[in-house]
Amino acid sequence: MYVNFGGFVPISTVDWRGRAACTVFLRGCPARCFYCHNIAIQDGEDLRDADEIIAMIRESRMVAGAVVFSGGEPTLQGQALAHLAAAARNMGFSVGLHTNGIFPRVIEDLIDRHLVDMIALDIKTTWERYDDLLELTAADAVKRSLAACKRAKADGNLETFQAVVTLFRGREGDLLSIAQDTRGFDLVLQQGVAAGFVPLTRQELEAAAAPLGRKVRIRTREDGEVVYDPER
Ligand code: SF4
Repeated sequence: MYVNFGGFVPISTVDWRGRAACTVFLRGCPARCFYCHNIAIQDGEDLRDADEIIAMIRESRMVAGAVVFSGGEPTLQGQALAHLAAAARNMGFSVGLHTNGIFPRVIEDLIDRHLVDMIALDIKTTWERYDDLLELTAADAVKRSLAACKRAKADGNLETFQAVVTLFRGREGDLLSIAQDTRGFDLVLQQGVAAGFVPLTRQELEAAAAPLGRKVRIRTREDGEVVYDPER
């Protein structure tokens, strides 16, 4: 089996909070977010035998207890992703996934086969604005992925689930509806960074989170990840 490979980081402490993980980047993403953090692997082809990737994961075993699949969009390569996740599982790794949620069947399949322990799902904007932002029909698919993750977490079939919102100045109003859809689950507000935008500061992100009346995690380049708790 071949994998469209995007890169490999043997040890990372930022891709799965509290875990030392290796990270496999899978190339290709059908979305076109203007702020894409990994634009170099949005497209193109670097086909590798899955065994080569599995060997990279195996070599990380001395330092990493988990593997995170990221991208690009890893669920674009559903079969290869499941194959790699199963191999990682067999080697004793916990398995994490960073996804934009536009291929819900792949996510449901990973959950059903107990091949994933952590999912970080991007919720990019309100459902009404979703398709325009990504330049494709995605809102219903992401809703379905969100429902699958919430169900799996509530049923004990997913150890960790977090909804990740990349927030830009002027879009703070999106948060209320996203917070409603993710009530009871981990919510991460990530500082949006893109050319032509002044990034929100940690204090501004905290102010945006305040009306939600709930604990959220805030990520900025300046301060890393901190917990904002309105009751503290
Ligand atoms: S979904 Fe992620 S990888 Fe795809 S374009 Fe958006 S930011 Fe880039």
